[in-house]
Amino acid sequence: MVKSREVLPQPKSKFINVQCPDCGSEQVIFSRASTVVKCNVCGKTLVKPTGGKAIITAKRSRQQVLR
Ligand SMILES: [Zn+2]
Repeated sequence: MVKSREVLPQPKSKFINVQCPDCGSEQVIFSRASTVVKCNVCGKTLVKPTGGKAIITAKRSRQQVLR
């Protein structure tokens, strides 16, 4: 595979759109969230912060990256 595009520097953090596995509510979260992010509707934990990269327990929705 040949890379024809220039590789843009990727930001270490980004906002992603996830969907709650329980109630299906979509929510925009920060991929390096430093706090637990819970679903606005049912309260399920969607993101668990770790030392670095957050663990996203919710499934990602169609729009994975919001610019
Ligand atoms: Zn939910």
